[in-house]
Amino acid sequence: MQLFDQKLENAFRKALITWYLEEKRDLPWRKTSNPYHIWVSEVMLQQTRVETVIPYYERFIEKFPTLADLAGAKEEDVLKLWEGLGYYSRARNLQAGVKEVVTEYESRIPANRKDISKLKGVGPYTAGAVLSIAFGVPEHAVDGNVMRVLSRILLIEEDIAIPRTRKIFEEVVMKLIDKEDPSSFNQGLMELGATICTPRPRCLLCPVRDFCTAFHEGRQEELPVKSKKMKMKTVPLLSIAIRNTEGKWLLAQRPSKGLLANMWEFPNVENDGGDIQEIVKANVGITIGSLTSLIDFKHVFSHLTWDITGYMAVTDQEAPEGFRFFTPEEVEALPKAVPVQKIWDEAKKSVVF
Ligand code: SF4
Repeated sequence: MQLFDQKLENAFRKALITWYLEEKRDLPWRKTSNPYHIWVSEVMLQQTRVETVIPYYERFIEKFPTLADLAGAKEEDVLKLWEGLGYYSRARNLQAGVKEVVTEYESRIPANRKDISKLKGVGPYTAGAVLSIAFGVPEHAVDGNVMRVLSRILLIEEDIAIPRTRKIFEEVVMKLIDKEDPSSFNQGLMELGATICTPRPRCLLCPVRDFCTAFHEGRQEELPVKSKKMKMKTVPLLSIAIRNTEGKWLLAQRPSKGLLANMWEFPNVENDGGDIQEIVKANVGITIGSLTSLIDFKHVFSHLTWDITGYMAVTDQEAPEGFRFFTPEEVEALPKAVPVQKIWDEAKKSVVF
């Protein structure tokens, strides 16, 4: 890896920032300098595409326009607005972090890395993004896009799948960052990674091609170096929408920690290939009849795939322990993860309310 000399560094910053200011996409969180709104957008954008985030961001800011609004909201309402965006712990952590700002920092988001990093859910990237974009503090904000861009420009061949590699990129950004306009510098790197220096880079359109070592050596598609992920585990699941004689549906809330914490779901049991009514009796504690097939699909998490077979059934029994019956309107209102919503959508098509 080699950094540029002073003159080249200046020219690189200028080329990147000029391009960013002229070409940046028109995104709702780029029209505000409200640090809380920028924080929300950065949390939503983690692992999630820009196009997906836009409507969620707009609804979220409309419903919780201030730190106080989010701090005082019911967690269930927050999760409901996050429904479909995935990685729900982000929403819970965001609300917890916002509560800390309200109670411990007089509703002012700390404008230094040490304090902002203590807030729940604020990692090195989010801290740097909020500090540079909202407060103009020259701090690094290194995510996968930024590592891809810089690994190519500076021919950094360290494995980005290893967590400590991020430190190398953070140091590089701290050296290169524009002290006058750290917001446009960081966002320029992110934008370049999102639109031009993508996994299959479009180098002929690139504003910083002249500075790019990988391009000059024809190695841009070899970078970044990223070792293979571990093999994903697949779990076969039965998910059964069970309705009682009053037309109410049986759901349970997931535990408050771990995957999809606190979200609501239909009885979800591992599918061992045996008789479905017996599996449900043994695992859920309820007898069901009139089994109808609804939908088969896979739901992919970062480390795990659920191979789901969805059914609908009826019962004349009471709700077993840990479950409750809900009217269709109540089911609509509960925060549900995407796979549960898919089954619910299919169940609704099959039943006349
Ligand atoms: S020249 Fe190509 S590889 Fe280099 S930064 Fe630009 S898009 Fe990326």
